[in-house]
Amino acid sequence: MTTSPASPLTVNCPHCQKAVVWNSDSTWRPFCSKRCHLIDLGAWANEDHRIAGEPAMDNIDIDALMAGIER
Ligand SMILES: [Zn+2]
Repeated sequence: MTTSPASPLTVNCPHCQKAVVWNSDSTWRPFCSKRCHLIDLGAWANEDHRIAGEPAMDNIDIDALMAGIER
């Protein structure tokens, strides 16, 4: 019996609309590439989606954090 693979599922990259095959090889799906993924993330960050009440990194005791990791 011959098992011919079904036509692969493809999606369009949300950033550049390029067709992306949806499988484990496409690390950045639904984006076509890491570049498009990062661009989209950057656009998101630039829209100032800050979480209210989220502590700034300055307030975290890095030394205590590292000591805990190295234990
Ligand atoms: Zn793309």
